[in-house]
Amino acid sequence: MSLGLPSKLPATPAIGELIARPSPTFSFEFMPPKTREGEQLLWQTIRELEPLRPDFVSITYGAGGSTRDTTVSVTERVATETTLLPMAHLTAVNHSVAELRNVIGRLAAAGIRNVLAVRGDPPGDPMGEWVRHPDGVLYAEDLVRLLREYGDFSVGVAAFPYKHPRSDDVESDTRNFIRKCRAGADFAITQMFFQADEYLRLRDRVAAAGCDTPIVPGVMPVLRMGTIERAAQLSGAPFPPALLARFERVADDERAVRALGIELCSEMCRRLLDEGVPGIHFITMNRSTATREVWQQLAPAALA
Ligand code: FAD
Repeated sequence: MSLGLPSKLPATPAIGELIARPSPTFSFEFMPPKTREGEQLLWQTIRELEPLRPDFVSITYGAGGSTRDTTVSVTERVATETTLLPMAHLTAVNHSVAELRNVIGRLAAAGIRNVLAVRGDPPGDPMGEWVRHPDGVLYAEDLVRLLREYGDFSVGVAAFPYKHPRSDDVESDTRNFIRKCRAGADFAITQMFFQADEYLRLRDRVAAAGCDTPIVPGVMPVLRMGTIERAAQLSGAPFPPALLARFERVADDERAVRALGIELCSEMCRRLLDEGVPGIHFITMNRSTATREVWQQLAPAALA
């Protein structure tokens, strides 16, 4: 369907094509800043991570569509002022289809060809009632279609190793995941998880259902005890008890907690790479040190 807008976007690489190559991609996720200090921290982090030459970086979209303008402007600035290939996240919360088309048009006009289409959570309580905008869309699948209608976007979607917290069971979660892949997603990135087997089970059940969309694991090391609770909320599953016990043994020692978090995340990434994952996506929380530490543990494997 033509919207009277250009159907061919400039020749920036398609992340879907990079992920489909045999060697794994490495990528970093950033959040749009909310304050002046946050903005300085983000750009310092981007500059510190740029020399690692990730295959791409992604910029999230704030809850409730709150960072629409910042997400677009940060993504555009990464594209024009750095050597990095950016991907914008886009959510459906609080947006009519007309508004979504407007954002998509702005991304295309800025030469952004890569978009992660996620439904988004309600602002405030992520598990609160999801209310569709009266003129909006209901599922990520619909966002994928909107992007596809527009033109030559490479589109990613979200995957949930433990199933999405709103899904009744793993079977319906898998079916719905495959629907959005078939709607036109080129790749998926997972929610954070802490045991390689959780990812491998997801990969196997999706493959067994006949879907070959590559699924990139999203990872984040535990750096403090507070991360564990937050991670459990986001992933929709209790933190693995055996790992929790290891963190609890050193809970009084901040440096030991951090060191254990880096060690466990690096070990998990190594196993994932041995299992042939299509890439590793680091959730950075806009800081570079922990990501660099895990990266350094993996670099020889990554460059092999
Ligand atoms: P959907 O795929 O739409 O699924 C939502 C629920 O509906 C699931 O339970 C699913 O099984 C069910 N469902 C889907 N399709 C159907 C159907 N046809 N019929 C019946 N049920 C269906 N949030 C943000 O606000 N901003 C971000 O930038 C952001 N980035 C993210 C990046 C990644 C890698 C991940 C994993 C998550 C991200 N999120 C972000 C969080 C995400 O928006 C939420 O987890 C949201 O609740 C689910 O999004 P989704 O795209 O998976 O939704």
